[in-house]
Amino acid sequence: MKVTVLSHTPDPEKTVAAAARLCYSNVSASEIMENFTEEKAASFIKKLMDMGHMSPVEHVSFTFAIDGVSRTLLAQLTRHRIASYSVQSLRYNNPFRDEMDHPSEDDAKKACHMAYIEGLNFARRLCNGQTPGQGELDDKGSTQEHTLENIQTNLLPSYFRGIFEGGAALEEGPCFTVSFPISFSIVLNKSPFNFTPEGDKLLIKNEDAINFCLFVYGSLDFAQQDYSSKILAVLCKKSPEFLKAFVKAAENYIDTRYYSTLPESIAKKPEAILAYIKGLECCKKSYIELVKMGVEQEDARYILPMGTQTRLVMTMNVRSLYNFFNLRCCQRAQSEIRHLAELMLAEVKKIAPRLFEKAGAPCEATGFCPEGSFGCGRYPARKPEDQ
Ligand SMILES: Cc1cc2nc3c(=O)[nH]c(=O)nc-3n(C[C@H](O)[C@H](O)[C@H](O)COP(=O)(O)OP(=O)(O)OC[C@H]3O[C@@H](n4cnc5c(N)ncnc54)[C@H](O)[C@@H]3O)c2cc1C
Repeated sequence: MKVTVLSHTPDPEKTVAAAARLCYSNVSASEIMENFTEEKAASFIKKLMDMGHMSPVEHVSFTFAIDGVSRTLLAQLTRHRIASYSVQSLRYNNPFRDEMDHPSEDDAKKACHMAYIEGLNFARRLCNGQTPGQGELDDKGSTQEHTLENIQTNLLPSYFRGIFEGGAALEEGPCFTVSFPISFSIVLNKSPFNFTPEGDKLLIKNEDAINFCLFVYGSLDFAQQDYSSKILAVLCKKSPEFLKAFVKAAENYIDTRYYSTLPESIAKKPEAILAYIKGLECCKKSYIELVKMGVEQEDARYILPMGTQTRLVMTMNVRSLYNFFNLRCCQRAQSEIRHLAELMLAEVKKIAPRLFEKAGAPCEATGFCPEGSFGCGRYPARKPEDQ
């Protein structure tokens, strides 16, 4: 998500102060404006805000460029009627046009898949079939044998992923340790990672182990399903560092492959991320199929998810912005629109700090929460004198 202030009323604070001062003056607003110093305008604005006299702030507007937000956010945002909007249309924009014009290299994907299966088969053979891997791959007979030396460098992560999922175990204890049966040394000792023999096991520990896992899963093509979701979930649980890298990779994948947004609560659960990607893949496939059949984009888009991103330009005056920040900076607001509100507030505060001094969630300004039993608990529900 990106928020940029495209333009705003010039001299926003002086304009508001001059408009407000005019109410009590017998000279024109232009004269007042000329004679207003920054300090005078500031003290006038403070008075105005303390009194809650909000109509003068309607003379100042801000225009924002908002990029990379979901259609779910758009639906919430446009409920704010005191604003103007221009929105990128899915009628005229096919988010997958480039891909349809230049189909991705299936051969490269197939090669990664085969390298993964080879690694998995290798591990299974060494373990005599007693492995914790996926065990449901139907094309295991169709691979050729490779030695580590003749596998292309770009296929190594897939190959090691197969070996990892076919033969690795996570050791108990606080230290992040991955173990393999010692027989795996014929291939693992030739890898660029630091494995040490201990009894009948080959171990890799702490930072080395995390780097090994990041290497193995770093270039994961989530839609290819060349991985075990169970093993991924265990790694995420065991290592916060791995979890962070995994979520970042997934977010980037969802953004570039599906032109979609990863919602906050889904991002907290690796299994949910994988389920979400599955759904996005289905929608994308159907959309492309419909467009290829000649269905108009304006109708094919019905199959696209609410997470699909858009771009928009929005103009709001300061009074409406106050209302927007009041409702959407609150913890009760949904996470994506709250994030947008926070970014917008930070931007306008840079331009007109005094005008927006009291803007934000109501609790921040008043010290109590008007949401009653729905409150997040950061502030008391009511002022002590009202109880
Ligand atoms: C946490 C949260 C949960 C929500 N849940 C839901 C939900 O479940 N369902 C749902 O439908 N919406 C929901 N909304 C949206 C909400 O009801 C408002 O539509 C949205 O926040 C826009 O607020 P607004 O009307 O104040 O803003 P604007 O439309 O920008 O209006 C600004 C102000 O102008 C005045 N105004 C505007 N139009 C009129 C009018 N026609 N008559 C009189 N005064 C007017 C009002 O004082 C209003 O506050 C939710 C919002 C939040 C923040």
